[in-house]
Amino acid sequence: MTLELLHKPSMAQLTSLGIGGNARVLAKVRDEAGLDELSRFVEREGSGLIAIGEGSNLLAGDGELNLALVQIACRSKAEALISGTRVLAPADMRLPGLLATLIKNGLSGMEGLAGIPGSVGGSVAMNAGSYGTDMQSSVKRVRLWTPSKGLFWKDTADLEWGYRHFSIGQNNGSEDDFFLVWEVEFELTRSTEEEVRGRIKNNFEKKKSTQPVTAKTAGCVFKNPEGYSAGRLLDEAGFKGKKIGGMGFSEMHANFLENKGNGTAAQALELMDQASEAVAEKFGVTLKPEVIILS
Ligand SMILES: Cc1cc2nc3c(=O)[nH]c(=O)nc-3n(C[C@H](O)[C@H](O)[C@H](O)COP(=O)(O)OP(=O)(O)OC[C@H]3O[C@@H](n4cnc5c(N)ncnc54)[C@H](O)[C@@H]3O)c2cc1C
Repeated sequence: MTLELLHKPSMAQLTSLGIGGNARVLAKVRDEAGLDELSRFVEREGSGLIAIGEGSNLLAGDGELNLALVQIACRSKAEALISGTRVLAPADMRLPGLLATLIKNGLSGMEGLAGIPGSVGGSVAMNAGSYGTDMQSSVKRVRLWTPSKGLFWKDTADLEWGYRHFSIGQNNGSEDDFFLVWEVEFELTRSTEEEVRGRIKNNFEKKKSTQPVTAKTAGCVFKNPEGYSAGRLLDEAGFKGKKIGGMGFSEMHANFLENKGNGTAAQALELMDQASEAVAEKFGVTLKPEVIILS
């Protein structure tokens, strides 16, 4: 079976935040041949199509969600292919796994991304970043899939990148809204195993001491507004540690929402509303969600 369909998948099980109801269906692409079946699935399902990776940046709503999820789940054990300083990684490889490969091969450029738990595909789609770097800085080209064009490569310069923003652009030659990141080629620089390991270790230690990396979260809830730290604004507005039911802003870092065990999306969204209202009132700054809200 190259496209596996699961009906009524639990969003709580598919996301690191561990909350949310059930989607309509989840299509798991098991291999490249599954993409032919996926075209028919996309046509059949029509609306509410969402790509999903490791679910580490998603806040899913409660109850029945009219969503058809598509997840690449074929090569999670596959190795990235290394050729000199070029690295080819499948979208469903986990970013920490890719960083481990870069350590072994002494390849530098992505050390700032230590501690980001997503997939390679989701990390491109979010232009994930930290410690002064992001995916865009190392990506040379991306192999995309759209229902009308199938698989095709696009160079970094022809893609639209921004702060936690990625788009395949208007001129992708197809009318499709839905796309998948299928694989990614990185251009890195030569270093040594020891140096890359050291920088990754340092960055991860720094993260562990300032962020709740083992709690059930979706990373930072809000983007940093231009010139501000969202965490600091939330802290100064009194939201560090603030709870509603089973959800609460972390005691460690105010921009992380934690599911304390029995949280709901309604509680998370209420906290986010209250926090953004308070920050707007107190500082005149608008907070925009970094988490992707699926409802
Ligand atoms: C503890 C913790 C720490 C974090 N730290 C950081 C951090 O420092 N910096 C940072 O930027 N983020 C951070 N995050 C957020 C998250 O890990 C990143 O955004 C990650 O890149 C998301 O990858 P994912 O596979 O989980 O994507 P998902 O959460 O599954 O999806 C995110 C978005 O990508 C799209 N998408 C997913 N896969 C694909 C695909 N193959 N093709 C097309 N679109 C796709 C989805 O539709 C969605 O819009 C953190 C999260 C946690 C839980």
